[in-house]
Amino acid sequence: GATLGVLGGGQLGRMFAHAAQAMGYATAVLDADPESPAGLVSQQHIRTAYDDPQGLATLAAACAAVTTEFENVPAAALQTLARSMPVSPAAAAVAVAQDRAAEKAHFVRCGVPVAPHTVIDSEAALATVDAAALLPGILKTARLGYDGKGQVRVATPGELAAAWQQLGRVPCVLEKMLPLAHECSVIVARGADGSLVHLPVQRNLHRDGILAVTEVFEGNVPPALAGQALAAAKSIAQGLDYVGVLCVEFFVLEGGGLVVNEMAPRPHNSGHWSQNGADVSQFELQVRCMAGLPLTQPRQHSASIMLNLLGDLWLRGPDGAAATPPWYQVLRLPGCHLHLYGKASPKPGRKMGHLNVTAASPEGARATALQAAALLGIAPF
Ligand code: ATP
Ligand code: MG
Ligand code: MG
Repeated sequence: GATLGVLGGGQLGRMFAHAAQAMGYATAVLDADPESPAGLVSQQHIRTAYDDPQGLATLAAACAAVTTEFENVPAAALQTLARSMPVSPAAAAVAVAQDRAAEKAHFVRCGVPVAPHTVIDSEAALATVDAAALLPGILKTARLGYDGKGQVRVATPGELAAAWQQLGRVPCVLEKMLPLAHECSVIVARGADGSLVHLPVQRNLHRDGILAVTEVFEGNVPPALAGQALAAAKSIAQGLDYVGVLCVEFFVLEGGGLVVNEMAPRPHNSGHWSQNGADVSQFELQVRCMAGLPLTQPRQHSASIMLNLLGDLWLRGPDGAAATPPWYQVLRLPGCHLHLYGKASPKPGRKMGHLNVTAASPEGARATALQAAALLGIAPF
């Protein structure tokens, strides 16, 4: 059978590998970490940096198509690979998603509302910020931030200047702080032929800048908003001539408006529920996009709730010692599906796994998910 390749060996690459292998493909992973979660489950693990020419050549020789699970791979690496095989998403689309300023400009071009913002990439830009329009706000590095890292909340011009220093005077985007009612996301998959399918709108709860809970069932996002979010995600994908799986994150404002926050050029944590709650998961969609297989519209068959399992849950033994969470008790509950990423060392805030809860009704899913959360020491939601 053919081999499918992935740049990046984290949990997203691991779950991609599982989906690819279920469909008869072998997988090859490029990641320098010898213990990378995807490398541990793949037929081939190339342990080099993303820009190592020898590593890229080895990957190219092994694979029929390549994808990425990590948006910060150098665009040049994707371009190199694209000379010899299909690469999805393409380097140009990943380059936009890597840079908040370029990403926001793309959203604006697509006619999708974004938070009021400005680019701060110099002392001059800092000195001329329209404080009345943008403060209080959040200063975010244009590149490399995730899980709320690389962001500082600022209320005054003085705090803004200090935050820019603190972030290393790198190019940043200053965004106005918006009053959020809640957050949601949409995952679309687009084939090379322009066909596009999507998962239902997902409602997301973040804690300390990290996704904590995703809920997906009828009625958890007002239908009019869900329609707007889906239309926005489609136009964002089409505007990039995107091929692959794309996640678009939104803010729902108090008062009801919808604003796009950011996008991820890959499967996303908020789509993990689809492994157990839909008949086609986001990872199978990624495989189908890469392999040029048909994209059929996924059908959600269960009300679904995903709980992220962060390293903190392992660090609750006496004196903060590592202890295994009570899986036996959790898995006694109906419709609980445990996914662990094979990471050796739990750390606070580190994504170690997730628990998908499925049920026939939203009420059933919520009741079970709240019981599981209580057993695990996750705060109620
Ligand atoms: P991810 O891990 O999803 O890539 P990130 O580090 O890129 O996260 P953002 O998605 O920009 O960060 O922001 C993290 C969270 O901070 C958001 O999900 C939201 O809860 C809050 N937040 C970000 N920007 C704003 C804003 N303009 N107004 C209000 N809250 C915000
Ligand atoms: Mg982000
Ligand atoms: Mg985000």
